[in-house]
Amino acid sequence: MIFISEERKIREDGRKYNELRPIKIEAGVLERADGSAYVEVGGNKIFACVYGPKETYKRRLLRPDKGVISVRYSMAPFSVDSRKKPGPDRRSNEISKITEDALRPALLLEGFPRSMVEVYIEVISAEGGTRCAGVTAAAVALADAGIPMKDIPAGCAAGKMNDEVVLDLSEIEDKNGQADVPLVIMPRTGEITLLQADGNLSQEEFEEAINLAIDGCMQVSELQKEALKARYVLE
Ligand code: UDP
Repeated sequence: MIFISEERKIREDGRKYNELRPIKIEAGVLERADGSAYVEVGGNKIFACVYGPKETYKRRLLRPDKGVISVRYSMAPFSVDSRKKPGPDRRSNEISKITEDALRPALLLEGFPRSMVEVYIEVISAEGGTRCAGVTAAAVALADAGIPMKDIPAGCAAGKMNDEVVLDLSEIEDKNGQADVPLVIMPRTGEITLLQADGNLSQEEFEEAINLAIDGCMQVSELQKEALKARYVLE
């Protein structure tokens, strides 16, 4: 465990080293999808929509024994400082793929052979940490769509800046920082379904970042449940 003195815990935006940005989560925000969610994490504004399970034109992906998940993560041209060229690119393809992998273990799709659950993640405004916030939104949208799930994955990153391990890097912290460690966990089982690491961390710092990110995910998970409770009464 790395010791961080109390006075060094304050960051540029006033957060402590282990403090998340303000988070807002809403379930069932778009009428035309089977399930949807809206998530804000700091300046990130993200919609997630779910369709299915349904037949699909992507026949090569279908499996005879269970349903499959397909994710498209997309950033709007106006979501970042300099206009982003519309359409998929290497980064969005990678995030779509890792998001599928992060969500798949939570889904119980054995009852839906030859069908597909489609997830669309639309980043309207980006401020660092969109992949984690996207998974968080998609998980709520999947639950909102009534897709059978054994858990609701929650995402949050930790990282390193000014030689400190900190929770939930903002865009400025990410760009000026030394490392970023996005993580997704299934809170009930504790299974980690996404773990990436970008930058330089000692083994001790890496472990500290993982523990911080797990704490962050657990806080995000509570907000996901509250959002779903606000729409449906959960026990
Ligand atoms: N970003 C940007 N332009 C891009 C891609 C990303 O300005 O084309 C910003 C955006 O705020 C994003 C941040 O850089 O949230 C960090 O991007 P990264 O690839 O690390 O993914 P993320 O942290 O969003 O999961």
